[in-house]
Amino acid sequence: MTMARRKTREVAVGGIAIGGSSAISIQSMTSIPTANIFGTVKQICGLAECGCEIVRLAVSNAEDVKSLAEIKSTLRRKGVAVPLVADVHFSPLIASDCLEVADKVRINAGNFSDKILGQKAFSDGEFATGREKLRSKLKVFFNRAKDLKKPVRIGINYGSLAPRIVYKFGHGEEAMWASAEECLLAAEEVNFEAIILSFKASDVQKIVRANRLACSHMDERGWNFPVHLGVTEAASGDYARVKSAVGIGTLLQEGIGDTIRVSLTEDPTEEIAVAKNILQACGLRRYGVELVACPSCGRTTYDIQKVLGEVRDALARMGGAKNFKVAVMGCAINGIGEAGDADFAIVGGPGGMLAIYEGGKCIATRIAPDKICEEFLQKCAGGRRNNP
Ligand code: SF4
Repeated sequence: MTMARRKTREVAVGGIAIGGSSAISIQSMTSIPTANIFGTVKQICGLAECGCEIVRLAVSNAEDVKSLAEIKSTLRRKGVAVPLVADVHFSPLIASDCLEVADKVRINAGNFSDKILGQKAFSDGEFATGREKLRSKLKVFFNRAKDLKKPVRIGINYGSLAPRIVYKFGHGEEAMWASAEECLLAAEEVNFEAIILSFKASDVQKIVRANRLACSHMDERGWNFPVHLGVTEAASGDYARVKSAVGIGTLLQEGIGDTIRVSLTEDPTEEIAVAKNILQACGLRRYGVELVACPSCGRTTYDIQKVLGEVRDALARMGGAKNFKVAVMGCAINGIGEAGDADFAIVGGPGGMLAIYEGGKCIATRIAPDKICEEFLQKCAGGRRNNP
């Protein structure tokens, strides 16, 4: 059973709310240079069309800030309202400039002020100096964000923690929390609260441990900032999807997470279907009919793969009523019982013929496999009639 969602404050990112009681939103990131305005606008339109609710863009220099402004105005002229997030590394000045343009700015706590290469060992004095430098730069940045009413994501990445943090806290989830904590203390000093946090790594166990630890520390302190979930550098293909589903899904089941990004080294639109499936499988959002099917075995009396494919395609085209569950089962012996909680079920019967069940009751029998899809859709088109 999914645990109750961790209580978080609501942070507005353009027209999308993150945290509080808002739906867990889906994010992605463009994969071409932001200087390519035409290509980026096209990519963002594609993402928005397939259900992406927030889009992040890499912003590395002053030219990119200008491009971001042009991209945003072009999108708004086209009626595309998807919020845009500037992703900034290394430069507090660029991050500050982005606050003027973007709907949210994402900074990397590890490189906002600290140098990530070079020094490996730090005296207590050097550590304190590094922390103070970060604190003062963050306070300027957060004050600006507060004035402009723009939210900030503080990204904590296992792979780019500040060396002084790693030296003092080791290279693990304690260090990830320590990095977040010094940023949050700086925000607290200037009363800046429009913050979203992320704790990412390419290793699933690391992100699960880091998010659990961070949320427990935040809960102890009464910090209710929303959390953005994602597995970084997941790569591509099935394994990347499984890693994201396990990492993001585990945390969502524990009530942690207010917005998600599935990172794939593929066309960014591919990320959206995976994210939708994770949210639906976790019972957090519903994007289509919940379709279940038995794996089939020697008792299966018909071509279940063919029928399942036809039913899946037909349900996807159907749109409209989505809040029900459909089961496709190979036989009546176990199928009726195992499809018991489905609103509608197709079940194999003697002689390769099929039956349709609604709410566990048989409503049609002896249907040939080539007629089943049409018959089934007629029966379930209006949703379940005898809802208990
Ligand atoms: S429902 Fe029937 S056909 Fe499907 S796996 Fe179970 S026993 Fe086999």
